[in-house]
Amino acid sequence: MKITIDSDLCQGRSRCYNLYTNLFHAGPDSKGVVTITGELDDEDQIVDAGSAANACPLGAIKLDYG
Ligand code: SF4
Repeated sequence: MKITIDSDLCQGRSRCYNLYTNLFHAGPDSKGVVTITGELDDEDQIVDAGSAANACPLGAIKLDYG
């Protein structure tokens, strides 16, 4: 599974990179940036990715299950 952020939807509300520092960081415009861009194979990371997607108020975090 891979995580992407739709930067057109993201409004830099900071929730993802404040809550899930293992998966996201802030970009120069305060928008969320995915830190791990490859396939996630760690169960904890996959759970966190789902929680982050649910936590984003703009629905900008997309999970690609391939
Ligand atoms: S939680 Fe959503 S809106 Fe906020 S920075 Fe992350 S992707 Fe952007």
